[in-house]
Amino acid sequence: MPDKIQMRTPLVEMDGDEMTRVLWKIVKEKLINPYVDLKVEYYDLGLQARDKSDDKVTFEAAEAIKKYGVGVKCATITPNAERVKEYNLKKMWPSPNGTIRAILDGTVFRKPILVKNVKPSIPSWKNPIIIGRHAYGDIYKGQELHVTEPGKAEIVFTSASGKETRVTIMEMKEPGVIQGIHNLESSIESFARACFIYALSEKVDLWFATKDTICKVYDGVFKDIFNKVFNNEFKDKFEKAGITYFYTLIDDAVARVMKSEGGFLWACKNYDGDVMSDMVASAFGSLAMMTSVLVSPKGYFEFEAAHGTVQKHYYKYLKGEKTSTNSVALIFAWTGALKKRGELDNIPQLIAFTEKLEKATIKTIEDGKMTGDLARLADPAPSQSLSSEEFLDAIASTLNSLK
Ligand code: NAP
Ligand code: MG
Repeated sequence: MPDKIQMRTPLVEMDGDEMTRVLWKIVKEKLINPYVDLKVEYYDLGLQARDKSDDKVTFEAAEAIKKYGVGVKCATITPNAERVKEYNLKKMWPSPNGTIRAILDGTVFRKPILVKNVKPSIPSWKNPIIIGRHAYGDIYKGQELHVTEPGKAEIVFTSASGKETRVTIMEMKEPGVIQGIHNLESSIESFARACFIYALSEKVDLWFATKDTICKVYDGVFKDIFNKVFNNEFKDKFEKAGITYFYTLIDDAVARVMKSEGGFLWACKNYDGDVMSDMVASAFGSLAMMTSVLVSPKGYFEFEAAHGTVQKHYYKYLKGEKTSTNSVALIFAWTGALKKRGELDNIPQLIAFTEKLEKATIKTIEDGKMTGDLARLADPAPSQSLSSEEFLDAIASTLNSLK
């Protein structure tokens, strides 16, 4: 075996919970450690370790990502009342993803991994459609009123200096509903910057769409900020990378997406992203084939799988039963993070290795070896589905056989 690939800067590794924690270890043992002399700074974000450290470890991990620039995270339990009992927790700790996102001020991008034998529900989709969802404001931080008698609905803004601005929404002659929403220029700007950075990093076109023909002011500000950030900071970089930024109306975007071949980043306002990411994910196949990356406006990256800790499979595993859990999104979290490290530190061998591992993973599935979630969808259907570990062994053997 040739010498292992050396790294220069540590990768921030965040371990997690349940079935994904089990697979995390095997992925490293079988697919990465034999080829890469892993340099990591390890943070245990497993629920017990978070509880023991009063969740300090989550904050330390986020700070480490700020220091080194790239992190890879296993799925973690966000505790609810049941988990507090199950793990005898001191407190119902908040979601680690929420904590990390708040510290890094990031936008989450979700990208499906495609294989030839699992066809998207939309036949024209040949390349991934990546969704970038703005994660602040609009209806998710709105106020609502159900009014039961006639009256006047108004928007009132009282500035910090005491000046009042009023607009009438409606002279209501009967009962009805009213809603007030907001967003912030700084948040929209961060979102825009994260989208441009991600499109450049993936070398894909960026689409952004709103309804600025109807919401001339609200969505107009979104459109203007995207334009400003693009023209001031990214126009030349996009030209050099051979990619484009394209703005259109949301209904036009939906029509174009359905007829497209994929292969672009679709930046969505908060609600559009909520709805469209579920549509895109389910049309592409399985949650276990969806990667997720948090990109901060400062250019920090945190890679993970889009799915959770696969609790049901873990309870089977604890009972000693065979599981058939798909590790593809976990593997791609590692390859995504190592590739980014390779790009930042200029280590071509590391980049080449991640591409080879991704290729081996896809080839294994395309050769008919897969876990149960994919076996149910694949055409042709495989004669049998593999267990969690058999699948990883199959990838390891494909990887070994690739030049
Ligand atoms: P989940 O772990 O995503 O699993 C939901 C179901 O999806 C599974 O029961 C399984 O279906 C299928 N599935 C998901 N990933 C799979 C894989 N890799 N291979 C095969 N099938 C897969 O969601 P959950 O069970 O609702 O949540 C479990 C825990 O995860 C919760 O404590 C939650 O807080 C946490 N969570 C963490 C994150 C994160 O850290 N990013 C995200 C979401 C949830 P079948 O049972 O039908 O096989
Ligand atoms: Mg949703």
